[in-house]
Amino acid sequence: MNICYHCGGKIKVIKDKPYHYDECGMNVVLYGITQFACIECGETFVSLPKVNELHRAIGRTICQTKKGLLTENEIKFLRKDMHLKAKHFAQALGITASTVSRWENGKNEIGETEDRLLRMFYIMYASEQADHVLCHDVVKMFSELENRRKKATSGKKVKKETEIKLNPLDWISGAKLDFCTAPS
Ligand SMILES: [Zn+2]
Repeated sequence: MNICYHCGGKIKVIKDKPYHYDECGMNVVLYGITQFACIECGETFVSLPKVNELHRAIGRTICQTKKGLLTENEIKFLRKDMHLKAKHFAQALGITASTVSRWENGKNEIGETEDRLLRMFYIMYASEQADHVLCHDVVKMFSELENRRKKATSGKKVKKETEIKLNPLDWISGAKLDFCTAPS
């Protein structure tokens, strides 16, 4: 990319600046992403490699590390990444579509059991997409959820939207990473 598609101005390359991926609807910060900025009009551009895999990494991180109940944006993100319309998503979880919409517009909180079921669904889905098991020891992971939550909530409420930090090694295949280390 040499010139701004917006105004035709010159472009400068920005490296080593975290990219806030607000477009995904959550508080996700990406490291190691090259960004571009137009010197004339200030327009910024970014090119994200392997967006599907990136979304999978975001979804997995939510399911494995989120201490509080899933929030409306997280539920919506997971549902959309599984390419499920609210109706089919509701059918899969054994609930009504209006329950889904109340979760997603923040009117109702997701229940403890549905929260776990949804995480489980997503982990299965992501494993299927990746063609290998992404998360071992899920029973342990879920068993520990309550304790981790208690620790996080002792004294203060769990921050609603946890910041998710990722770099391309976290989602580009070939990288040998253990995604299932016990979330702290
Ligand atoms: Zn420009």
